[in-house]
Amino acid sequence: MVIANNQHAHLHAEISRLQQVVQRLEQENRDLQIALANTAEHGDYIEVELCQTNTKLQAEVTERRQAELTLKTLLSLISKQRDDLEIILETLVDHGDVLDTQWQQKVSQANVLAASDGLTQIANRRRFDEYLQDQWVRMARSHASLSVLMCDVDFFKEYNDHYGHLAGDTCLKQVAQALNSTLYRSPDLLARYGGEEFAAILPQTDLEQALNVAQRMQAAIAQIQIPHGGSSIASHLTISIGIASVVPLEPFPPSVLLDEADRQLYRAKNQGRNQIVHTTLNPLADPQHS
Ligand code: GH3
Ligand code: MG
Ligand code: MG
Repeated sequence: MVIANNQHAHLHAEISRLQQVVQRLEQENRDLQIALANTAEHGDYIEVELCQTNTKLQAEVTERRQAELTLKTLLSLISKQRDDLEIILETLVDHGDVLDTQWQQKVSQANVLAASDGLTQIANRRRFDEYLQDQWVRMARSHASLSVLMCDVDFFKEYNDHYGHLAGDTCLKQVAQALNSTLYRSPDLLARYGGEEFAAILPQTDLEQALNVAQRMQAAIAQIQIPHGGSSIASHLTISIGIASVVPLEPFPPSVLLDEADRQLYRAKNQGRNQIVHTTLNPLADPQHS
C-alpha cells in the first residue's frame, strides 16, 4: 500500500514535469511561428532590394568595362605616339649637327638675300642705310673722315629707249660690277641706291681719297665701253658722281652727308654730266654745345 502510494506520487510528479515541458515546447513553437512569419514578411522586401542592388551592380560593371576598353585604346594610342616621338627624338639627336648647320646656312642665306639687290647682287638700299648709320657712329667716335659717293648713269632713260629694257638691265649689272671692282678696302661698300643710281660708303676716307675712288670709277666705266647711241654727250655710257666728306658728329643724322652728296650729283648733272663734283661739309657744330 505504501509502495502504491509512492508510485502514485512519483507518477504525479512526472506528469506535472511533462506538462511543464509541453508548455515550454508550445511556447517555443509559438515564438518560432512568429519569427517565421516576420522572416517571410521581410524576405519579400529584402529580395526586391537585392534585385535592385544586383541590377545596379551589373550596370556599374558594364560601365567599368566600357571605361576599361576606352582606357586601353587611349593607352595604345599614347604608347604609339611615344614610340613615334622617340624615333623623332633619336633622329634629331643623331642628325642634330647637320640640321643645325643647315639651319644656320638658311639664316645666313636669308640675311644675304635681305641685304642684296636682286638684279645686280650688290648691297641694296636697306643695307646701305644700315651701314651708313653704323659707320657714322664709328667715325664720329674715332674722329675720322667718312665719304659718300652718289653715282648716276647719264641718259639712262634714253639707253632703255634705244636698246630696250632688258638690255638696260644687263647694262646695270655691268655698271655695278665695274664700280665694285674699284673698291679695294674691305670697309668700303657699294650699293644700288635705286634705279640707275649707285652709292658708295667709304669709311676712314677724306675728300682727296674719295676723289681718287671716283676717278677710278669713271675710268672703269670708260673701260667697259658700253655703246650708248642715245647719249647726247658721248658715244659710250658715262656716269656722273657727287661726293661729300665729313668728320661725323653723333648728334647729327647721317642724312646730312647723304643729302650733300646728292646735291653734288645734281650739280654734276647740271654742269653737263660725265663728271665728278665734290665738297667737304663744314665742320659740324655740336648742337649740344652751340
Ligand atoms: P640723267 O642723265 O639726268 O640721270 O637722265 P636719266 O635718263 O639717266 O635719268 P631719269 O631719271 O630720267 O631716268 C632713269 C631711267 O632709269 C628711267 C628708268 O626707266 C630707268 N631704270 C630705273 N631702274 C631700272 C632698271 O632696273 N632696269 C632698267 N632697264 N631701267 C631702269
Ligand atoms: Mg640717270
Ligand atoms: Mg637717276
